[in-house]
Amino acid sequence: MILEIKKYPDPILRKKCQPIKEVNEEIRKLAEEMLKVMYAHQGMGLAASQVGELKRLIVIDIGEGPEVYFDPQIIKKQGEIVFEEGCLSLPEVFLEIKRAAQVKVAALNKKGEKIVVKAQGLRAITLQHEIDHLNGILILDRKNPFIRLRDLIFIFFQNLFRKKQLLT
Ligand code: ZN
Repeated sequence: MILEIKKYPDPILRKKCQPIKEVNEEIRKLAEEMLKVMYAHQGMGLAASQVGELKRLIVIDIGEGPEVYFDPQIIKKQGEIVFEEGCLSLPEVFLEIKRAAQVKVAALNKKGEKIVVKAQGLRAITLQHEIDHLNGILILDRKNPFIRLRDLIFIFFQNLFRKKQLLT
């Protein structure tokens, strides 16, 4: 299985992911492959929709080892933090995003057991970014309409340039 990262404006990035009914060998394998792709691109997190799988699965590594969450759900948010975020689906775009500084996330682990994780700082930011992906939300959507328009225009021209490069 070779996974490819879906890039904006691929419509799959806008779709909502479906709950995982059962944590089985197949979905664990997908998580392993996602971690490989994430590391290959020096990412800190990856959601299944970013590799074209509409399943509620995210993987992260904020420098403390791999973490896999099935059906993650934010059950509590507290405080505020602003951080410049990038996204593997939006290459070369970095946006300052305001998020909750602390979150409590309920999920299933690799054994299918219910877990609750309390996260802050980078882990909290990454979890919120990846859970947004499961709901079809990108960092662009977290900005006000004016900034969003500016970034969309930037991405449009960037894509034009990229196509030109490919043609020549
Ligand atoms: Zn992302």
